[in-house]
Amino acid sequence: DTGGKYLLYMENITVSFDGFKALNDLTLYIEPGELRCIIGPNGAGKSTMMDVITGKTRPDQGTCFFGQTLDLTRMSETEIAGAGIGRKFQKPTVFPEHTAAENLELAMAGPKTTWHTLVHPLNGEQRDRIAATLDTVGLLDRHDHVAGALSHGQKQWLEIAMVLMQQPKLLLVDEPIAGMTRQEVERTAELLQQLAGEHSVVVVEHDMEFIRSIASTVTVLHQGSVLAEGKMQDVQNDPKVIEVYLGE
Ligand code: ADP
Ligand code: MG
Repeated sequence: DTGGKYLLYMENITVSFDGFKALNDLTLYIEPGELRCIIGPNGAGKSTMMDVITGKTRPDQGTCFFGQTLDLTRMSETEIAGAGIGRKFQKPTVFPEHTAAENLELAMAGPKTTWHTLVHPLNGEQRDRIAATLDTVGLLDRHDHVAGALSHGQKQWLEIAMVLMQQPKLLLVDEPIAGMTRQEVERTAELLQQLAGEHSVVVVEHDMEFIRSIASTVTVLHQGSVLAEGKMQDVQNDPKVIEVYLGE
């Protein structure tokens, strides 16, 4: 029984690579509609945690449930994506020669689709969904611009929009603000806060300023387990956290 309260329920997860524990007895619970920030020094296990949630990496031990019934440790990556877990990777992977709208059309059709196997034209409802999703991420005025011509920040938002086309219940975002301008960072903080609620959002980041501006619950990972968890103002004054960050 996972209590019924949580969308994501990870308990005592351990992942070893050649005897080295990238995750070591990690426990994490995410509620529906929550925006959670995960921080921690390089090598803390943040990406490995995302890999376990998405089925890319199998844990050696532990429990990982999505909702009440879905045991993620027994599902393929494709099944997990289909169940409503979307991930935005660090590097933009948009199709540069296609327009913003076409990128969303491809994303809506699913991962195995190419431009040549797409069924055209779209119906009105599909067109509306694409426009609404571009609007959500602030790119409606880039609808017919090729993705390759977008700024770095805009590409990152387009990629978030592409994940949204799959209508995820849980959205995982790995280091979204790397390389962004200050303005783009602020816009990204607003966007993630706006998305939480309708989707649960787990964001991995190490920019403290950005995390502070988001003002959600923060989980600090260190050596593959949770070092501290709570409101940013408490976590940042925790002596254990200060030690880990000053020791970097
Ligand atoms: P973070 O994302 O917090 O920087 P990672 O989850 O990428 O940390 O990595 C955690 C630790 O596990 C690191 O020490 C990393 O070198 C190691 N690691 C991650 N993936 C692998 C792998 N496929 N093989 C061996 N070691 C790995
Ligand atoms: Mg990482």
